[in-house]
Amino acid sequence: MAEFALIDLIRARCAVAREDVRLGIGDDAALLAVPAGQVLAVSTDTLVAGVHFPKDTAPFDIGWKSLAVNLSDLAAMGAQPAWATLALTLPVADVAWVAAFADGFAALAREFDLALVGGDTTQGPLSITVTVHGFVPESLALCRDGAKVGDAVFVTGTLGDAAAGLALLQSPVPEGKEHLISRLNRPTPRITQGLLLRRRAHACIDVSDGLVADLGHICTASAVGAEIDLVLLPASPALLGLVADEARMPLQLAGGDDYELCFSAAPAIATELLDDLARSGCAATRIGCIVAEPGVRVRAADGSLAAPPRPGWEHFSP
Ligand code: ADP
Ligand code: MG
Repeated sequence: MAEFALIDLIRARCAVAREDVRLGIGDDAALLAVPAGQVLAVSTDTLVAGVHFPKDTAPFDIGWKSLAVNLSDLAAMGAQPAWATLALTLPVADVAWVAAFADGFAALAREFDLALVGGDTTQGPLSITVTVHGFVPESLALCRDGAKVGDAVFVTGTLGDAAAGLALLQSPVPEGKEHLISRLNRPTPRITQGLLLRRRAHACIDVSDGLVADLGHICTASAVGAEIDLVLLPASPALLGLVADEARMPLQLAGGDDYELCFSAAPAIATELLDDLARSGCAATRIGCIVAEPGVRVRAADGSLAAPPRPGWEHFSP
């Protein structure tokens, strides 16, 4: 199958009609209308086979995840998703593979009324680059640099599931495995929650590289520090049922790929904020506070403060 037949296949399976797409796939560039009074939030993420997902991951899941990790970045900015482009590098023109990939991408695109407006299709080692575009009123964007000393620190959903799922892929099937592996392969971008955080969160980031690493980015950008209470870290029943506390902590503090939102906000609004988030379908948990001393520290059950076990995932690190 030739390049253009593959593009047609992707276009057909990902069809989402939006009035602001004046010209979509098929010309040299898409023509898109940004709503008056808002700015574009743009983000790109690449998934490389064997680095960001195991080579034998189902194509549906790869399609889903390649969009999900990008939407997660829009969620962390408090942006409303609108459009995406898809640069696909494929070793071979496998129609069944591309169809399943497009279906995974489309399942999530439809959920958020997101139109695929262009891309590029090339031959080479399997790699997927998605760029997403969303809207946010400029003054309401959730940046990393607004955390204030005295803020409470929160996280949506649960932490450590995806890292446990990744470990489980190499092991025999225990109880609860499905939940953890689906957290790894089909993360849920917290778009609705990001929108609820507008005007409320002082700083926000999505947890892609691990809680300590990503909260560390907020701290660096905001010139503050943070303390996290280990006993407050939210864990799924599947994770609790699978690993003991000592094994769970590194997964929850340093495990990547959860795509939850970590944010800081004034403690005075915590109750109302947590109520609203719980009603949105994804509860959040207060896990710590912002302090003046730089760096991220964790508080054990006995009250002692210590440096976290190890930093999150980094490419090119020795
Ligand atoms: P050009 O040669 O002008 O760069 P291409 O031949 O690469 O155009 O692509 C033709 C059209 O198909 C363009 O509108 C492009 O955006 C779109 N397209 C190419 N690959 C993809 C893809 N993987 N997903 C979505 N749209 C694509
Ligand atoms: Mg091209």
